[in-house]
Amino acid sequence: MSGTITKTEKQGVAPNLIDYPKTCAEFDWSQARTQLQGLPDGGLNIAYEAVDSHLSQAIADKLALRWISKKDQIQDFTYRDLAEQTSRFASALKTLEIKPGAKVYSLAGRLPSLYIGALGTLKAGCVFTPLFSAFGPEPIRSRMEIGEANVLLTTKALYRKKLASWWRELPNMQAVLLIDAEAEECEPGCYSLDSLMAEGDPHFPCEETQAEQMALLHFTSGTTGKPKGVVHVHQAVMVHKQSAFYALDLHPDDIYWCTADPGWVTGTSYGIIAPLCLGVTMIVDEAEFDAERWYRILQDQQVSVWYTAPTAIRMLMKAGPDIRRQYDLSALHFIASVGEPLNPEAVVWGEEVLGMPFHDNWWQTETGGIMIANLASQDVKPGSMGRPLPGIQAAIVTQNDGSREEITEPMQIGELALKPGWPSMFRAYLHQPEKYQKSFSNGWYLSGDLAMQDTDGYFWFVGRADDLIKSSGHLIGPFEVESALMEHEAVAEAGVIGKPDPIAGEIVKAFVALKPGVEADESLRKQLLGFARKRLGAAVAPKEIVFRTNLPKTRSGKIMRRLLKARELGLPEGDISTLESDER
Ligand code: ATP
Ligand code: MG
Repeated sequence: MSGTITKTEKQGVAPNLIDYPKTCAEFDWSQARTQLQGLPDGGLNIAYEAVDSHLSQAIADKLALRWISKKDQIQDFTYRDLAEQTSRFASALKTLEIKPGAKVYSLAGRLPSLYIGALGTLKAGCVFTPLFSAFGPEPIRSRMEIGEANVLLTTKALYRKKLASWWRELPNMQAVLLIDAEAEECEPGCYSLDSLMAEGDPHFPCEETQAEQMALLHFTSGTTGKPKGVVHVHQAVMVHKQSAFYALDLHPDDIYWCTADPGWVTGTSYGIIAPLCLGVTMIVDEAEFDAERWYRILQDQQVSVWYTAPTAIRMLMKAGPDIRRQYDLSALHFIASVGEPLNPEAVVWGEEVLGMPFHDNWWQTETGGIMIANLASQDVKPGSMGRPLPGIQAAIVTQNDGSREEITEPMQIGELALKPGWPSMFRAYLHQPEKYQKSFSNGWYLSGDLAMQDTDGYFWFVGRADDLIKSSGHLIGPFEVESALMEHEAVAEAGVIGKPDPIAGEIVKAFVALKPGVEADESLRKQLLGFARKRLGAAVAPKEIVFRTNLPKTRSGKIMRRLLKARELGLPEGDISTLESDER
């Protein structure tokens, strides 16, 4: 494994993090609250912090959002434009008699109306729930039923293909807002968003919501099973804003690009709320991943802070370093990753090919914002998730059921736990109070992830609790094995599971996708088995390797190891509503 990457020449170090351990322990969330504007009556609303609070300041006419269409057309919105548009959207909801607290769902790609709709919904005091636009009718319907959706914002094509035949059966639905429809085209219950917006009030005052009022309902990625509806409140905005500063090194003069799909929690917390709260210019690209396109955007838009995910980074690595050399990335100064463990190989690749390491950070739909990160001001340890953010107390606790105890000995595997109390902590799993209760023990929130902590306080991801492999008395985290395989030049991605074995209990089995042009043959398989054995030792190395075109992943880019395992065991596949790539 590669050594620590020290931050001697790091630019843009957040100054108040220099004496981190002290700052961290003494951090006071009520102090963070004073850094928010707050509503005139003392209430709090995310949309007000993100947009309207900037109107009295010098940045009112600054570029807030630049949208790049699939065909490279550009649409720009200043903070003032966003304030007016979101007001129009909020007033349109009011015209349709949608009351504060109602659930407004979105089902759309990265279109400007989606961003305006998200913030306009919050401004109207309603709850915003994004869905992946690639979902089929069934996952859309089940999520709308669980959340008792009142409104859906979508496009004509998605509506016709996925919703038209059944949405009226949902008892709470009041309206469908069609982003690209004319009023004349709309069936009863459907509305042309353009027409509504044209008649809307550009100065609609933000609804007076309170800090503890529900603002967001997010569905988890469904990596380990059926997705859960996670409830967040308006004061989560404190963490969004604070964490983007500490973990993404985001400052007002940055040009920021978050590549997360808007259907996923990252797409809202860091793809909409955090950057706007910090007054930066953010880039939104409508198109999907394409190595050349992405490099071109980084260059042409002079992106300075970039937040992406391991699956995209691995695809850039797969595309090779030659493409990168054709682009001038001199504006770029901070790159970060989330969603899955980031292999040390990928962190170092960032350093070598992009000129700076990727900063991995860890959080969940439940935590609402980044909790643990390779912080902007501190050394990066490739393969580690980093250290807890100021105000966040994290620990490794024992795995056994019953009361969980903190493990203080370094590098011992246990469950990653957080001390409740940070503002963006989830307030419920919707309609699942028992499940919610079960995620707490002995004063800790239990993440369901296994990790270790080193003597410097850095956390190391081991695997999901369900994915841990027990082989001949050894506990093996899939991430370690996958990272070792990734070090081989032929490997593009790897997913590892435990396969039942009469002698060892389980053996390690790896599924491997190769880089373009590499032939999957017996000699390569043998070579990889030997390579892994040399790195990991015989006890931990895979005993079996299967080649695949790609790995089954969730729409948020996470490898679905449980699916590989279910198939291996001949068990039912379970909830695969979020499954995306899956070519054998
Ligand atoms: P579900 O809860 O439905 O199974 P999910 O846990 O994948 O889905 P998310 O909330 O989107 O849904 O993802 C959070 C999880 O992603 C974390 O619990 C962790 O397992 C993984 N994760 C996120 N960031 C990292 C990271 N930097 N390193 C390792 N794992 C990460
Ligand atoms: Mg989860």
